[in-house]
Amino acid sequence: MVAYEPVIGLEVHAELLTESKMFCTCAVVDSTSAEPNTVVCPVCLAMPGVLPVINRKAVEFGLMVGLALNCEIPAFNQFARKSYFYPDLPKGYQISQYEYPLAINGWLEIDLPDGSTKRIGIRRAHLEEDTGKLTHVDGHSLVDLNRAGVPLLEIVSEADIRSAEEAEAYARKLRAILQYLGVNSGDMSKGVLRMEPNISVRPVGSDDLRTRTEIKNLNSIRSLARASAYEIERQIALYEAGESVQQATMGWDEARQVTVTQRVKESSEDYRYFPEPDLPVLELDRAWIEAVRAGLPELPDAKRDRLMAEHGLSRYDASVLVAQRAVADYYEQALAAGGDPKQVANYLIGDVFRQMNLEGRERDDIGAILLTPQALAELVTLVRQGAINHGVAKQLIETLYAEGGSPARLVEQRGLAQVSDESVIGEAVATVLDEHPDEVARYLAGEEKLIKFLMGMVMRALKGKGDAQVVQRQLAAQLEARRK
Ligand SMILES: [Zn+2]
Repeated sequence: MVAYEPVIGLEVHAELLTESKMFCTCAVVDSTSAEPNTVVCPVCLAMPGVLPVINRKAVEFGLMVGLALNCEIPAFNQFARKSYFYPDLPKGYQISQYEYPLAINGWLEIDLPDGSTKRIGIRRAHLEEDTGKLTHVDGHSLVDLNRAGVPLLEIVSEADIRSAEEAEAYARKLRAILQYLGVNSGDMSKGVLRMEPNISVRPVGSDDLRTRTEIKNLNSIRSLARASAYEIERQIALYEAGESVQQATMGWDEARQVTVTQRVKESSEDYRYFPEPDLPVLELDRAWIEAVRAGLPELPDAKRDRLMAEHGLSRYDASVLVAQRAVADYYEQALAAGGDPKQVANYLIGDVFRQMNLEGRERDDIGAILLTPQALAELVTLVRQGAINHGVAKQLIETLYAEGGSPARLVEQRGLAQVSDESVIGEAVATVLDEHPDEVARYLAGEEKLIKFLMGMVMRALKGKGDAQVVQRQLAAQLEARRK
């Protein structure tokens, strides 16, 4: 039996969140918010005789990404024409970069399940313009050119990825970096971030690169992971059956959870790239590059390391908190409101995420939940002060998540304050022990796990509000007293 290993590279297209398009002054708008073909001008409609002008902000955003991905930034940059015909491309060519891209030779670090890390090479990142959008309805094809000319950054990894899990980790890290930089929302369902893995498999130990396929139309990172895993298995099965893999562009059928062949490639396309004659070469000033570097925000890995060092969080917890910028922002707002760093992390990762999962809500959306970071901080402080116990806190998170509001007020309104009074708890313990003579006898005969049952009964008698430490102490003492 031959063992196979996958060889995966990832191409990522990220629309840049500039105010205007790549080569004209049209606004960059959400595809769902504007009527089709209303945010266009002679330049992005490709009228004859018009001239493009490079968007400085788009170059700056591209630079930020290149620097964040540890790339070299060559001083000499040039745009190139990529010629092909497609109905959503009115010029008949796309302005892209070819021989002289914005950024080259970088890397990104991913965390592996065994706790180690791995660097995935970044071959290049280059600027280009997006195409329009085609919609096919009832045998007709409709074109919307609002998206034509939106700045796009293409980020190409080296083929260093060796499993579907690594592809997923790479995609998550890259998406987080784009979000932290504020250059892309990371919303794959809206198509502003598009990821295309190219995949081949080969016998372990071999260096050859076999025929690869490319998967398109992935609308989430989960789909990327599943489609990659499926495609790896499909190719291995073909080789094991003595067949070969055909070079092709595949799509991912979300409903059936299978990859499907869309287009078989007979030869590689010839785009006849040549330097774009309508644009000057782009010479980047070193001082500007260094100024952009100095202005980069704290990135996910640095934030993770800082949270571990400053607050003693585990690497796992810190990684989860920094994985989406929205979650990191939420967490830091809760700390700014006075929440204990470890407790906030525990309730956030445990209870708040559980509520979001139940609702099917993406973590990117945490900024919009009714339980505010300030309320979570307040809740954690109430637990630390002994005003409420852990069980009540969990229950309150459900309520605050559903309705919002102030934890302190809810505690008062519902009478949820923690009961710590020794005599009240002592009485409850005595009553429970009197009512359960069998369990008490079995416990005293060595069945120690019954302590949990008795603890539960006392907590129930105290309506869940008992101070767990006092209950434990009283229970132990009174059980001991009954031994004689
Ligand atoms: Zn325009």
